[in-house]
Amino acid sequence: MSKRSKQRLKSGAKKSKNQRRTQKHLIQTLFKNAHDAIALIDDRLYFVDMNLAACDLLGLPRQKLKGQPLSTFIAGQFPRQPKEEGSFPPGQSLMGELLVSSSAQIRKEVEYTLTPNILPHFHLLLLRDISQPKESMQAELRQQQQRVELFSEVTLKIRQSLQLKEILHTTVTEVQRILQADRVLIYHVLPDGTGKTISEAVLPDYPTLMDLEFPQEVFPEEYQQLYAQGRVRAIANVHDPAAGLADCLVEFVDQFHIKAKLIVPIVQTLNAHSQNQLWGLLIAHQCKSDRHWVDFELELMQQLADQISIALSQAQLLEHLEEIVEVRTAELQDVNRNLQQEINVRMQAEAALRQSEEQLRLITNALPVLIAYVDEKQQYRFNNQAYHDWLGQSPGEIYGCHLRQVWGEDCYQKMQVYVEKTLSGQAVNYENDIILKDGSWRSVDVTYIPDVDDQKTVKGFFALSSDISDRKAIERMKDEFISVISHELRTPLTSLHSALKILATGRLGTLSDEGQQMLGIADDSTVRLVRLVNNVLDLQRIESGKVIIECQACNAANLMIQAAEAMQAMAQQHEVTLVKQPQDISVWADADYILQALTNLLSNAIKFSSPFSTVWLTVEQEEGSSNQNSPTEVVFRVRDEGQGIPADQLERIFERFQQVDSSDSRKKGGTGLGLTICRKIIEQHNGKIWAESNPGCGSTFAFTLPLTENRTNADLPT
Ligand code: ADP
Repeated sequence: MSKRSKQRLKSGAKKSKNQRRTQKHLIQTLFKNAHDAIALIDDRLYFVDMNLAACDLLGLPRQKLKGQPLSTFIAGQFPRQPKEEGSFPPGQSLMGELLVSSSAQIRKEVEYTLTPNILPHFHLLLLRDISQPKESMQAELRQQQQRVELFSEVTLKIRQSLQLKEILHTTVTEVQRILQADRVLIYHVLPDGTGKTISEAVLPDYPTLMDLEFPQEVFPEEYQQLYAQGRVRAIANVHDPAAGLADCLVEFVDQFHIKAKLIVPIVQTLNAHSQNQLWGLLIAHQCKSDRHWVDFELELMQQLADQISIALSQAQLLEHLEEIVEVRTAELQDVNRNLQQEINVRMQAEAALRQSEEQLRLITNALPVLIAYVDEKQQYRFNNQAYHDWLGQSPGEIYGCHLRQVWGEDCYQKMQVYVEKTLSGQAVNYENDIILKDGSWRSVDVTYIPDVDDQKTVKGFFALSSDISDRKAIERMKDEFISVISHELRTPLTSLHSALKILATGRLGTLSDEGQQMLGIADDSTVRLVRLVNNVLDLQRIESGKVIIECQACNAANLMIQAAEAMQAMAQQHEVTLVKQPQDISVWADADYILQALTNLLSNAIKFSSPFSTVWLTVEQEEGSSNQNSPTEVVFRVRDEGQGIPADQLERIFERFQQVDSSDSRKKGGTGLGLTICRKIIEQHNGKIWAESNPGCGSTFAFTLPLTENRTNADLPT
């Protein structure tokens, strides 16, 4: 080795020796001054050496602690005993927590770190006292818990109040109590920037600021904007220049002996799009002394200001709801009033209806006729008292009963056809015979009038039946009398007529011209008298029901031809042209009687026509009233160009012995019974007959007959 190399080696060894010394010194200093307890223990867990912090922790001086087993100071077992003495797992630090008792029996929670075998069979134990931080953390937690409880208690109190005024009062009172502040107030800022104190809790020693308005210079608009953005002011000493209060503001607060103040804004968000609006300020004052406001106090004030803001929104919502409820209540009251009015009107209407029903019943009960209303199911819905008097059934008993139940099967059979006709919409009139409760028979004239609503639906019908038994009896007597007289007259009249004819031949002697003339007059009168008697007898026979109308299918053309032929001679005599327009239509009729009606009408037409005029006989198929789509009846018409008939006489001439001119019977040789007989014949066929006229221009007499194919039960002879 060269000298140089030896020197280099020597200086290197010196250097590393120095380094080691330095390191040792560093470790010793660290070991000595470390805050954490550091000890060297052997394989048996006996203390070999330790620092000052370890002596403090375990409560013994270093000399006494050396050689002591670790187990003396720890509660329970050391968590990790070496598997066998001297063999901790290599290169692995053990960590955990232990409960250590000092020699003075002071227990402490420590965190340990054991680094095994830092020297062979020697291990480094590091103990850190963690009882202190744990306690302070627990104290902190307890305090937080108390604050949360306090806050929820105050919040609950605030929420329990529904009235805003009460909420504000509770807030200032509670804040004043919790913060032990000298004054707590709420200052309400109006939209125009002005405002005033609206709630306050203040100790009796200090003046009240209730209703006080902050002057504009101490509470300018820019402050309001800052507060609206959420500014919070915590001032420990208003006179401290660091607080930065304007002189005017310091002067203002001095008036009220305010030394410290804490201000938090009460901000409202009106809706999602609008900006925050400053509603007011929650302010705490300390007047006795300066005050350093702590975080908790600031937090409490802010949270309560938020609660007020929520309460405000709720109050506004409530106010809005109350408005809606008020409007709705007013509407409902209106509806109620209207309903009440409607009910009153209805009650009045019902009372009026009841009254008019009673009156109607009173009137109908006083009438000696049967009055009823029958519904579309043929059930009685109204009857007058006469039903009780006649049939022995009270209106109450009859109400709801079917016609068949009330009248019995036989009687119902007779009325059924008319009831059905009425329910199809036609008014009907017929005569019937009924048996009363005492067993006596009565003839009644019955009228049914259909009850048709706006939709043309038949809902029922009104029935009126009047007793015509007396009239019938008189008519029968009169008819019998006329019949007897007519029969009695016919025989002598026939002999008289024959005698006059013989006298006229001159076989019994020649008569003077005057005598011949008188004979002519007597013959004419006899012919007229014979016709009258025959007509009276015809009418009487038809009305008495002795005539049997035997309907069958007849050809209208044949009837017309026969009638025209029968009247041809008379037409020639009166120099009248008779024109017929026959058609092959099958009608349901008794040919003899229809011929009688046709010849009667033709005879009248010829009689009342001037010479050289024309009389027409026509026939047509037409739609009846019951069926609008297809023809159901046949109309015969006899038209002339004669003198015509005044409008007011058109219906009257169908009554017995009625003539337009009373001299007609003499001049035209009429009896005034021809049209009456015609009407009876046509009605027996269920047809109608009527006259139309244009006075001076002529008349038309028309009648209907059923078509054979359309005949109904009602058209059949009864
Ligand atoms: P009469 O036997 O009197 O003709 P009717 O009953 O047949 O009896 O007629 C009654 C009255 O009706 C007649 O007297 C007449 O005044 C009037 N009359 C009937 N047919 C016609 C007619 N075609 N033209 C004008 N008047 C008529």
